[in-house]
Amino acid sequence: MGKIIAIANQKGGVGKTTSAVNLSACLAYLNHKVLLVDIDPQGNATSGVGINKADMDECIYNVLVEDLDANKVCVKTPVENLDAIPATIQLAGAEIELVPTISREVRLKKALEKVKDHYEYIIIDCPPSLGLLTINSLTAADSVLIPVQCEYYALEGLSQLLNTIRLVQKHLNKDLMIEGVLLTMLDARTNLGIQVIEEVKKYFQDKVYRSIIPRNIRLGEAPSHGQPIILYDPKSRGAEVYLDLAKEVIANGERVRERN
Ligand code: ADP
Ligand code: MG
Repeated sequence: MGKIIAIANQKGGVGKTTSAVNLSACLAYLNHKVLLVDIDPQGNATSGVGINKADMDECIYNVLVEDLDANKVCVKTPVENLDAIPATIQLAGAEIELVPTISREVRLKKALEKVKDHYEYIIIDCPPSLGLLTINSLTAADSVLIPVQCEYYALEGLSQLLNTIRLVQKHLNKDLMIEGVLLTMLDARTNLGIQVIEEVKKYFQDKVYRSIIPRNIRLGEAPSHGQPIILYDPKSRGAEVYLDLAKEVIANGERVRERN
């Protein structure tokens, strides 16, 4: 049964989508069956794995709002072992349309139960808010991976996110765990980056991944080619580090399983 990891942080531009796309692709590259679920109306994860949104008649919107079977919207991507459930701009309405519906917070959880057995990892790319779409993701997930950008004010807003996670644990998903905290877009030439790493490690301790994502031009370019970094430039530093991250995620999962 697949492990569901939500990639969340209500701040925009911290590397959620880049990490969702590239962690998914690297797990798939390491021979795991992976499903990437795009639940951000911007659909950047969808186009990031080479799916043309204009070609899609149905997307995660129809699953969440109209109870369409999730199997019907799972599509293959150019990466072997990686499927995706796309999002199109239609999803922008869901945040409001879901409000008056029954069990509005558990719709994604219910939907993913139908596909969970076909995958080893299901990675959800959340939108930059703590609204119903993110709540659905946290409710469906086994764990949450939090990308934190290495910049001034890095920790700002995280207490709000942690508070939301606690509320979800209390009312909707008591087993939700913090998968890990991922430092992103490190500019190694500045002292600021080093300071931020220290600060985040002080706060999150061993939850912080050893793999730290550098600012890397190739990582920034890859989405406009509709390719994860492992296809676009497998020799780049960005590809190496996301591959390291995927290995850490796999190893952490094995450790947790051994403990239980
Ligand atoms: P979010 O999903 O949190 O809004 P994105 O992953 O879309 O953030 O990243 C924001 C922008 O920064 C995008 O244009 C992306 O291509 C770029 N970007 C993300 N990570 C890196 C990186 N490590 N190096 C260079 N550019 C990056
Ligand atoms: Mg995004």
